[in-house]
Amino acid sequence: MNTETHQFQAEVRQLLDIVINALYSDREIFVRELVSNASDALEKLRLKQLTDSNIYQPDKPLEITVATDKENKTITIADTGIGMTEADLVENLGTIAHSGTKKFMEALKQKQEGGADLIGQFGVGFYSSFMVADRVEVFTRSYEPEAASLRWSSDGREGYSIETLAEPLDRGTRIVIRLKDEYEEFSQEYRVKELLRRYSNFVGFPLNFNGEHINTVQAIWSKSKSDVKPEEYDEFYQFISHTDEKPLSYMHFSADAPIALNALLFIPRRNPEMFGFGRVDANVALYCKRVLIDAKPEGLLPEWLRFLNGVVDSEDLPLNISREMLQDNSLVRKISDIITRRFIKHLEKLAKDDKETYREFYAQFSRYLKEGVVTSWPNKESLGKLLRFESTSTEPGETTSFEEYLTRMKEGQTAIYALTGPSRSHLENSPYLEAFKARGYEVAFFTDHGDEFVLDSLSSVDGKPVTMIDRADVELPALEEEQKDALPQEEAAALEEWLKGLYPDKFSKVTLGKRLVSGAAVALQSGNDMGPEMRAYMKAMGQ
Ligand code: ADP
Ligand code: MG
Repeated sequence: MNTETHQFQAEVRQLLDIVINALYSDREIFVRELVSNASDALEKLRLKQLTDSNIYQPDKPLEITVATDKENKTITIADTGIGMTEADLVENLGTIAHSGTKKFMEALKQKQEGGADLIGQFGVGFYSSFMVADRVEVFTRSYEPEAASLRWSSDGREGYSIETLAEPLDRGTRIVIRLKDEYEEFSQEYRVKELLRRYSNFVGFPLNFNGEHINTVQAIWSKSKSDVKPEEYDEFYQFISHTDEKPLSYMHFSADAPIALNALLFIPRRNPEMFGFGRVDANVALYCKRVLIDAKPEGLLPEWLRFLNGVVDSEDLPLNISREMLQDNSLVRKISDIITRRFIKHLEKLAKDDKETYREFYAQFSRYLKEGVVTSWPNKESLGKLLRFESTSTEPGETTSFEEYLTRMKEGQTAIYALTGPSRSHLENSPYLEAFKARGYEVAFFTDHGDEFVLDSLSSVDGKPVTMIDRADVELPALEEEQKDALPQEEAAALEEWLKGLYPDKFSKVTLGKRLVSGAAVALQSGNDMGPEMRAYMKAMGQ
């Protein structure tokens, strides 16, 4: 028998140090993480079985077994899934293959407490077992016919050992956790049973606990809506998102044509990119007839929908589709379009029927809608209608929409007027507003970074152009009073001469305008110029 010792990658050591010494609450989540890994391993095997006939112990049922041992203070989680080779062990349980760790640590610092919730989201689930363990042993045998039977063992400090066993193991992985004295509760049957009930209802494989069958296999996305209870949706969300929170909203739909499709999508309560996590990936898994094809398929949904969690199942997909094929598959693109449209409809309905939830959604996720306006040409107008903003017609703190704006447009008003700037009070003092107020025209206020870019991309709503009022080419009808005081033509020409002399590069011309009521003059950008924000943006990009 040979035994090799290995050092953990530095990042893993750092992570383990945090997991062991800094996360005090929610230690129980290690059970969920290990059961979820067992389920992943079984899903992977099931997919292999469809395309590969050369599998070790092909008739072995796919299942998960959990057992507690009070005397020896252990808990064991075993599966008959894909197993691991020696190279897999080194890669998967000795390094952090994902770049998520750094983000995890940053997020952890910001969040102060409740960090355990972050563990699952960042894919560092296996290491959570060291929150309760003196030692973790992994017995594993890969599905590959010639693979070795192996024992990985570690106390979670410096490194781990891998031993090749003489006795052959059955296919799959068995993880034995030797509990610290303080955490021997996890070797108690009643304690673990309660956890499994809570976390494992949706595991897609039979789960046995101390000889008893625990879960009922459910793929709730393929059921009809009327057969699923609200709390089942919540539990399913908690299961796939590794969280204890309820979702803010969910959408469940199925379609037969043009593509057979079941989808169940959840909006989380909070935007994970808000606490400095950096960019997240969508957590929407792709299934074909309840077989997992890819847990995080790239390109299944447009980037701006990356805050969603859920499942998409289409029986029209070929089962043996590879990741590379997924990214370049016209069927996947069609699925993406259908889901995007349906999801926009869902938001429209939410905005109409459940304003409070929509407000919460908007507070967290408006920037994704705006990103969608900029990046998704076919959907930009429907996304534009989902935007909310204050305006000269709303009270501070109250918002309106473009559709409401359109109903208030004055006779003769040809455009939707908007102004961007850092805050409402800033905008309310803008000299650009006067002429519009004097004519009773509403002006929409946009105060987020990047809004100018968004409005430029949107360009029109229901055929009415969206016009920034600080551009020079805004045409306004005459007002009686202002014409009386207009500058005589000769004086305007003299003023133009003088200004040209003062600012030869920057100044272009004096126009006798209809835009001012009490002020004498205002600086405007010519219509094709970039706005100030756009100029700052281009400058930052080095243009
Ligand atoms: P994640 O599940 O997000 O990938 P984990 O830390 O939970 O991250 O697991 C790390 C990796 O270890 C998994 O991706 C998988 O390759 C491997 N692994 C963990 N548990 C098992 C298991 N029971 N069977 C096979 N592979 C496993
Ligand atoms: Mg995991």
